[in-house]
Amino acid sequence: MNKNIRRTALALSLAAGVFASAAQAAFPSDKPVTLVVPFAAGGPTDKVARELAQVMTKSLKQQVIVDNSPGAGGTVAAKKVLAAPKDGYTILIHHIGMSTAPSLYKNLGFDPNTDFEHLGQVADVPMVMIANKAVPAKNLTELLAYIKANSTKVSYANAGIGSASHLCGLLFMSTIQVDMTTVPYKGTAPALTDLIGGQVQLMCDQTTNIAGQLNSGAVKAYGATTMQRIPAFKDIPTMNEQGLKNFQVNVWHGVYAPKGAPAAAVEKLAAAVKEGINDAGYKAKMAELGAAVPNEKNASPAGHKAHLKAQIDLWGPIIKKAGVYAD
Ligand code: ASP
Repeated sequence: MNKNIRRTALALSLAAGVFASAAQAAFPSDKPVTLVVPFAAGGPTDKVARELAQVMTKSLKQQVIVDNSPGAGGTVAAKKVLAAPKDGYTILIHHIGMSTAPSLYKNLGFDPNTDFEHLGQVADVPMVMIANKAVPAKNLTELLAYIKANSTKVSYANAGIGSASHLCGLLFMSTIQVDMTTVPYKGTAPALTDLIGGQVQLMCDQTTNIAGQLNSGAVKAYGATTMQRIPAFKDIPTMNEQGLKNFQVNVWHGVYAPKGAPAAAVEKLAAAVKEGINDAGYKAKMAELGAAVPNEKNASPAGHKAHLKAQIDLWGPIIKKAGVYAD
């Protein structure tokens, strides 16, 4: 190569480098970011996702759109994000199911700890055991007696294996040592419609889905899955205080980019998540739905990653003991 050609080649590669970093710095540039939601539209995960999409849109100055891809307890959506181009434009919101999937699914095909960039947790949501109004039990004690008397004739709705409603039902049935008939849905939004319609009797669901029905009395409420009463629903006793000692399911939601996404995009997305959950309107909406914004540690990427790992380690033995698996 003579000197001139070498100089031109150097200039070109420098220019390419400048363009490449300019493109990265410009994330998100000319197209929307897709936030993949692993459950049906209108449900609890979807509600958090749509609130988050709004505040992230403000922060990123680029539209964040929601894509509902339900199925297999949320694992369909996680796989969809991993199969998409790893450019930061396709990200995932998921809940506690991300930490139970490795124990529940024999052939999960991905590792939540290592295949994703953890962008931060965005909501902590309590659950409440609810029933169709025709269920005769007036309180948890009567409900337990009713379930024991009717067992598999009692129907329990969930959002598929690995969903929070599945997990809560699993814990409930193993605690009271009675099996009910479970009916899987693509999310608890359609399940709630059926529960109110009387096609299915019981469900444990996040307050983000059922706040309106709890307030209007459209469903019966039997107990909260948190150790403390839910600030927005102080009149609902906890399962724990009614005798199901230490009965606890705390649903947390986190946001993920696929591992391999450009560092600049990951940084921008994590900053948008942080800014979004500190938005006063977002916080007020979460409180109205009985949910809370996570503490600063869990809201950070490192805290999210550590919490996910701890949750995987926590749920593993519980699920193993329950002996539930899916392919
Ligand atoms: N609440 C559902 C669950 O049980 C998920 C959803 O529909 O968002 O995990």
